Amino acid sequence: MNQSVSKVRAAKLELYRKKGKIHAKATSGRFNTLRWVIVWLTQIIFYGGCWLSWESNGLTRQAVLFDIAHEKFYLFGLVLWPQDALLLAIVLILAATGLFLVTAMAGRLFCGFACPQTVYTMIFSWIEAKVEGDHLARLKLDQSPLSGRKILLRSIKHGLWLVLAAWTAISFVGYFTPIRQLLPSILNWDVGPWEGFWLIFYAAFTYVQAGLAREAVCQHMCPYSRFQGVMFDDTTASVSYDQQRSDCIDCGICVQVCPTGIDIRDGLQYQCINCGLCVDACDEVMLKIGSPTGLIRFASERELAGRPKAQGWRERPRVAVYAGLLVIFAGFLALTATKRPLLLVDVLRDRGALLRETAEGRIENAYTLKLMNLVEAPRDFTVEVNGLPGLEIVGEREFALEPGSIRAVSLTVSAPGDGTLGGIQPISFRIAARQDAAASVVEKSSFALGR
Ligand code: SF4
Ligand code: SF4
Repeated sequence: MNQSVSKVRAAKLELYRKKGKIHAKATSGRFNTLRWVIVWLTQIIFYGGCWLSWESNGLTRQAVLFDIAHEKFYLFGLVLWPQDALLLAIVLILAATGLFLVTAMAGRLFCGFACPQTVYTMIFSWIEAKVEGDHLARLKLDQSPLSGRKILLRSIKHGLWLVLAAWTAISFVGYFTPIRQLLPSILNWDVGPWEGFWLIFYAAFTYVQAGLAREAVCQHMCPYSRFQGVMFDDTTASVSYDQQRSDCIDCGICVQVCPTGIDIRDGLQYQCINCGLCVDACDEVMLKIGSPTGLIRFASERELAGRPKAQGWRERPRVAVYAGLLVIFAGFLALTATKRPLLLVDVLRDRGALLRETAEGRIENAYTLKLMNLVEAPRDFTVEVNGLPGLEIVGEREFALEPGSIRAVSLTVSAPGDGTLGGIQPISFRIAARQDAAASVVEKSSFALGR
């Protein structure tokens, strides 16, 4: 009974890994070098970006910070507000279109070189190889019975993975809570509930995805791997084995180096992440046996079939459409960024009292103006009111605002109560920054004259 239960469990666990754990052989070559260059670049940016500081108005703050509590996103000198959500949406659309364009041109290039799952799997695998040895040593260790050495090596490996996963989580949360505040609060066991949740979740997520699940994520969990086939056509270059040539010596090295454990000689497979490692490995073999390299290479179906290369965009309609969309979205982004308002105003009429008559026979209405200074510099605003003869602001009409701040000011507006006009009349407020004549806003409102 117990035996059958454990067999069922084992079968379930093996469902996504029919061949057992994959221990890929290390290889070298141009694609492997390029992958590591991308790992270094992306990780220097990720782990280092949260430590950069920026000075603004005599104050030093974190250069890149999603300040959710104050609804601001700092990106060096740029400060984005919730009102700038459109900009963010266009950036995301632009990134997605860029990804579609790359996929139409060169298949799963993003998956093999720049996807965070690939990047972290590479780092975790590198740690594993440093602790447990090369692919043969790791295979031997997997098959060996439990021993003191096995426990020690596994403990070191999982310990290092956990440290890296924890540091990754701290860096991630450090983009939302200033990292120089976050670190001491972690050391003092004094993190808030949200920070605590995200630290644990992101560390566990990194450890499981990059350490344990690895290629299974690309093959069974990633939705992108399922639908990117629709972006392919016969001109899409992806890692392929050239069936026309007869140079293969069946050494099997291309299979040994594959991080997803497939044999590219069986043709294009959804498990292939286009990492190019089998290209590197096979090129080395070809050089050794004195045959031309490129038995496995980035090639399109068209090229492999011996047909001439696609000429012009008419023969690559998908590439042309994605490139066109990319240009359109980039233009839209530039336009939206240049037209971005740096001053926002909300005018609210006082709901308590519609109007008030003064002893001098004038009529007064009260308003609240919510001024938003979206610039990271102090600015003074002057308010004018227009729309009715003799209309004027009673009292102060100049207001100072701190950098990137919101201030609600109360205003009383007065008009002659001579009975020439009555009812509700349209008026407008013009708010202008003294330091920048171009930064002005006109907001419509209404004035109640009674009768
Ligand atoms: S590495 Fe090249 S030669 Fe060796 S099995 Fe693969 S395709 Fe054949
Ligand atoms: S078949 Fe080649 S390109 Fe595809 S995942 Fe395996 S090693 Fe990478």
